[in-house]
This record gives sequence, C-alpha cells and structure tokens, in this order.
Amino acid sequence: MTKSNRAPFQLLIAAAAGLLVSTIGFGQGLSATDVNAVIDAVDGYRSEREAAIIRDFVELLSIPNVADNLSDMERNAEHIEGMLRARDFSVQRLGAGGAPYVFAERLTPGAAETVLIYAHFDGQPVQEENWAYPPFSPTLLDAPLQAGGKVIDLEQLVGPIDPEWRLYARSAGDDKMPVVALMHALDALAANDIELTVNLKLLLDGEEERGSPTVGKLIDSYGELLQSDLLLFCDGPMHQSRQAQIVFGVRGSKTLDITTYGATRPLHSGHYGNWAPNPVMQMTYLLTSMRDESGRILIENYYDDVTPLTELERDAIASMPDVTELLQNELSIHSPEGNGVRLEELITQPAINARGIVAGGVGAKGRNIILSTATASLNLRLVPAQRPERVRELIEAHMVKEGFHIIYEDPSAETLRNHPKVAKLDWRGSGYPALRTPLDDPAALRLTKLLRLTAPDLIVTPTMGGSLPLHEFGSRLSAPIIILPLANHDNNQHAENENIRLQNVWDAISTYAAVLATYGEM
Ligand SMILES: [Zn+2]
Repeated sequence: MTKSNRAPFQLLIAAAAGLLVSTIGFGQGLSATDVNAVIDAVDGYRSEREAAIIRDFVELLSIPNVADNLSDMERNAEHIEGMLRARDFSVQRLGAGGAPYVFAERLTPGAAETVLIYAHFDGQPVQEENWAYPPFSPTLLDAPLQAGGKVIDLEQLVGPIDPEWRLYARSAGDDKMPVVALMHALDALAANDIELTVNLKLLLDGEEERGSPTVGKLIDSYGELLQSDLLLFCDGPMHQSRQAQIVFGVRGSKTLDITTYGATRPLHSGHYGNWAPNPVMQMTYLLTSMRDESGRILIENYYDDVTPLTELERDAIASMPDVTELLQNELSIHSPEGNGVRLEELITQPAINARGIVAGGVGAKGRNIILSTATASLNLRLVPAQRPERVRELIEAHMVKEGFHIIYEDPSAETLRNHPKVAKLDWRGSGYPALRTPLDDPAALRLTKLLRLTAPDLIVTPTMGGSLPLHEFGSRLSAPIIILPLANHDNNQHAENENIRLQNVWDAISTYAAVLATYGEM
C-alpha cells in the first residue's frame, strides 16, 4: 500500500524512525504522519533484510501444496506453524474432515479489538511441463518471464534488490505471500518497538482451491475461536492500475443445466421439418426470454430482491480508474453489453451467463436432422440480497410461464406425449449468496481511512465480479469482512509461471504493519 517508488531520502527517515515512532500521539485519531512513520520504520527494517525475507518465502514455496495431496498440506501446515510459534503465536491445527487449517492467535496487552486475517496456503494443481521453471523450485528472475527475465542465484543474493524482480513458484501470488509478509511485518514492528494496537488471529485455509468444502462446518465447530471485530480476507490480485485497493464484496453463484426435448428419436429434417418440435430452437427461445442482448434479465421479479447501490457505493465506483477502453482494445470488443454502464457497476447486478450449449454437430459432424435434446448450462451470478432458493423459484416460474413442464429426471415417453414443452432442470448444488459489507460500516470506514493515509489513491471497490463463498463466514461470524488483495494483477494465479512482484511483498509487509500498529487507535 505504500508508494511504489519510495524516494531514497525516506530511507534516511527510516533510520530515525525509532525516534519518530516514540513521539506518535496515538488516540486522538491518527494523521498520515503517524501511519507513515510506522511504514517508514518498517520499510527501513525490511530494506536491510530483503534477501533473508526472500529466502524465507522460498522455503515455504518449496513445499508442494497441491490442494488434494493431504500429506503435502500437512507439511505446509507444520512449516507455517513453526513460523507462527517463533513469533509467540498460540497455534492450533483445526479441521472438519477435510484438509488442515491453521489457526493462530496473539494477544496484545490492553487491546480491545481483534483482527482476524484469512489467507490460504494450498495451491492449484500444476502441469509441470508448461512451467518455465519447476513450480516447487522457486526461481527469482530480474524481470518478468515474458520480458526475458534472467535467473538470479538465490545462494548469492545480497541487497540491494530491484523491487521489480519476480519470484516464480506455485502459490507465490495465490496465496502464500500474506503468511510470509505478515511474519516479517511483525518482526519489523518488534524490531522498532512498535506495539500492535489489536489482538491478532489468523485462519489459514489448506483447501481453498478445492472450494473450502469443510469451512462452514469448521466455523460451526470453532465459531467462538474465530470471533473478531474485523475479518481481513487476503486473497486475489490487486487492481490492474497497481493502485492499492480494498474490496467490500463478492457475488454469489448458482449453476443450472437445462435440457429441452423434441421427438424421442432424431427425425429427418426434410420429412419432418416445420412439424417436429426442435429442442435447439426451443432452447434459444427460452434463453432469449430470460435475458436481452444487453444482459438485462427479463425474468419477472428477478430484480425485486436486489439491494440498490448506496450513494457511497456509486461514488466509489465513479472514482475507480475507468478501464473500459483499455479492455475493449485488449480484447477487441466493439460494443460491451450493459448499454454503456461501466463494468464496475454492471458487476453489482445479477447476471445470467450461458456457459455452453450442447446439441447435435456442426461442420463435418452436422446432420440434417431434428434432434431429440438440447442442453444448456447456465451460470448465475447473484448479488445482495438475492437468495439462491428464491432465484430458483423465479426461474422455474418463468419457464412455466413460457409453457414448459419442468422435470428433474429424464422424461418418460408419456411425459413427453402429455406436455407441449418439457425441460429437465439440473440445479447443480445449492449455490451460495453474495456478500457485501457496507462502505459505511464503522470498521470499514476506519480501515479505509487508515489505508488512505498510506495510499491517497486507494481504490475502494464495492464488489468484485467473481464469487467466493464468503457467506460461509458472513452468515456465521459477526465481524465485517473486507477483502485486501495484495498480489500483482499479472501474477498468473492458477496457471503456469505463477509469480509475485517483490514490490507487492514489500507493500504487503508495510500494509500489515500499518494496520496492526494503528487500527486499534484509528
Ligand atoms: Zn486464492
């Protein structure tokens, strides 16, 4: 969150930071000078130890962490627990029948509030042959791979280190960095005699990339342990502009497969065309009845449950960097959907996306027939306060209105004979709702103010377009949830050649330090 190009004279200030910090008058509302004094002290400490921090990170990244390999996840958990114990955390291994979770807690004498930081230490599977360097042999390059970065010998590594260098390894960006950055933030604060102003709890997830299947059960079992006053969800990439960013929500998600039916066997399109019902055409009419060309959903009452944007949310969106044209150029899009409404606002609305349609064949596989079935797969993105069950009701009511008889198993010949139009629905899983923390939640306001002191151009994002099951936390814990992305946007997460830009690690260290040292007094 610090300025990316710190001027050299600030390193001199950092040397005197112990003095500066001792004069900070906490309690009356902090000024930028106070928060930035903490950051300068921490940056000064970090700048002396960059090689050691990188080696520490390399050690953690060297432990393979593909989510479904439980014994590897145990090794990761053990290593992280060692890092935490060395910093006076009380540590517990938690589980609810899935992969290990690490919980850690460190109390601060006199602190009235608790911040819970969430991150995950598992990673997506790797296809090693696609990686330029082995994913679990972390490799430091002096520039991004695509810019021809050369390997830096980690054994010989000494300062000064160019912050644009990148470390390549699985989970470098998603999501082991917060763990390492937080440890070094704590070390830097301790070295400068700066006290934390909050109690600190950590929940480190070992199965996020598998969708955290047991996290709900885990929170049910350990709810008391996980209570806090603010939950910082540290995952995901930062804004493309590289400006510091906080995000207040995610969309919910639900999936639906629909099959429409024609005759029980394919029919010659010449002999039966214009007479036999065509399931492909039925499907296209159905889909166009659900949403128009701009993406607006046409299903009755669909927007009734949607919470309108607040004025604060509108203002926040209006002040975000506009990436419309950049994206149009990059992606060769003449006319985005949404009738000119910008991307950041459109993702605050519900969406129906056709993931795919499967029916018959095309090209050399095309046959002149009228098919028996067509299947479409829809991905529904939900926003506050839509509920997945209600969305299901509305979609089914719409299909009935469109003349469909709805079934959930393959139809019998009799069912097809007795109804003009039949659709089989496969609601794949129950889905989950969105989560959005109000921008004027008191904790949110304090955190926003704090981060703005360190980064005046902070991007406040009401919601990201993607989905995370944050409601598992939101529905069970009372703390407001705020997403704090820390990795560079081009970190290749989930793909080959995942990487972290060193400046993002340094910024994460100072951001954590600033939050822990000042949030309680903010
Ligand atoms: Zn992640």
